[in-house]
Amino acid sequence: MRHLVWFRADLRIADNPALHEAMTDAATVSAIYIDSPGQWQQHGRSAMQRDFLSRNLQALAEQLATLGIPLTILTADSFTEVPTVLSTWLQQHPQDALYANRELGIDERRRDKAVQQALSDQMAIRVFNGDCVFQHGSLTTRSGDMYKVFTPFAKTWLAQLRAYSYRLLPSPAAQGKPLKVEKIELDGEQVSSAHWPAGEAAAAKRLSEFCQCHLRHYGEQRDYPAVNGTSSLSPYLALGVLSPNQCLAAIENELEGLPMSRGEPGFVWLNELIWREFYRHLMVEFPRLSMSRAFKPDTEALQWSQDSEAFAAWCAGQTGYPIVDAAMRCLNETGWMHNRLRMIVASFLTKDLHLDWRKGEAYFMSRLIDGELAANNGGWQWAAGTGADAAPYFRVFNPTTQGERFDSQGDFIRRWLPELAEVPARHIHSPHDWLDNQQPGHGYPKPIVDHKRARLHAIAMFDALKDQE
Ligand code: FAD
Repeated sequence: MRHLVWFRADLRIADNPALHEAMTDAATVSAIYIDSPGQWQQHGRSAMQRDFLSRNLQALAEQLATLGIPLTILTADSFTEVPTVLSTWLQQHPQDALYANRELGIDERRRDKAVQQALSDQMAIRVFNGDCVFQHGSLTTRSGDMYKVFTPFAKTWLAQLRAYSYRLLPSPAAQGKPLKVEKIELDGEQVSSAHWPAGEAAAAKRLSEFCQCHLRHYGEQRDYPAVNGTSSLSPYLALGVLSPNQCLAAIENELEGLPMSRGEPGFVWLNELIWREFYRHLMVEFPRLSMSRAFKPDTEALQWSQDSEAFAAWCAGQTGYPIVDAAMRCLNETGWMHNRLRMIVASFLTKDLHLDWRKGEAYFMSRLIDGELAANNGGWQWAAGTGADAAPYFRVFNPTTQGERFDSQGDFIRRWLPELAEVPARHIHSPHDWLDNQQPGHGYPKPIVDHKRARLHAIAMFDALKDQE
């Protein structure tokens, strides 16, 4: 039997259900990855993530080669071309069965349906859940619907974990002699991601270091961007170089058991993994989330501002609000942003500048090394007040007090805003008077909006929706 494994957002050999199953039936296994540079561009994904993809594919090819499994890279510019590209390749490399792990975006699902229609007469097609601990659609309310609120979803998720635990699959054994690997070069713009080591071993090392050094203190440290208190595993989870089951196993290994309730060490981190699954399950259940549509349909009527200068200032980190500007410049330079800062800048864009969350979502996607549709869309809609279980619309983050609370000494701000390098801690969150007195000609912009007024306007925008009911 010849089995073909189609790698997508699951660039790992350990805990990979499709690879595992393909190899269990005494078959000869080969692998493909179908690169779609046009689709990548259409989805607005970043040049840094593309470089990271390319480096992780190289690492995957090398791992597979040690098992005697060749990885072929095919190119189909857009998803619509995938069935033809795959069928043509299969004519020269006939297979008995195709194995893959499910992807959840609507375009990915349409692509997979088209492949199924094109190939199901010729070969068996087997699809698995490889990106969530519990498969999409398996956690429902009593009436069989997907949860629209996080807390009951998390409760059911934990009950499921208690009842069935999770299944961590081992790395497969070699099927033959090691193979030679060619250098993988993907088309399309790429920006160096070299400061993120690629491959499963690097992800596993980061996971184990995080669990040893930070897991127990995550709850107290996770909100402070100047502190290295979160895992920085998102780029690996986004491309599937690491699986959520591997995260659970690492927690269990470190704590000698899984934390099941708030207050237990490690629970807060586990809870973030549940948020990740919540947004993924939502995306499958509500395809409109993949189509730039609001989760709450009534919020489609919000009257967003069209101020392109304000948007440009936000993107460039030139709003005059230090915590917002430092966060945006960090994103522009590194491709990554701390979660607290993502919430602050998303709230600022939507509630202070009154710009459409879709603009922020797209900008994040174009810059992030961990850009991932479900979490990005979920985070943006949460902040904008248009999403499932969103922040209440009248709770608007104050960017100055957020800075005071979560970067009290201004250490993070000074790292990213050289203009503020000399500003003492007590002035760092509203530095303009100090700068005007001490460093005339400093060049740091005045605040582009007045927060108090902007907040009232944001609330009025949502109140106007009620009037339309
Ligand atoms: P940790 O705090 O160590 O958490 C561990 C893992 O849990 C993360 O790697 C991630 O996979 C998951 N996770 C953590 N928080 C969340 C969350 N709120 N929602 C969903 N999953 C979560 N995350 C992305 O992976 N890709 C995105 O494109 C993305 N865009 C976001 C946009 C906005 C506006 C907001 C508010 C959040 C976004 N997040 C996104 C979620 C979160 O900010 C990042 O996952 C987190 O900052 C990554 O850092 P970490 O790996 O150190 O996370």
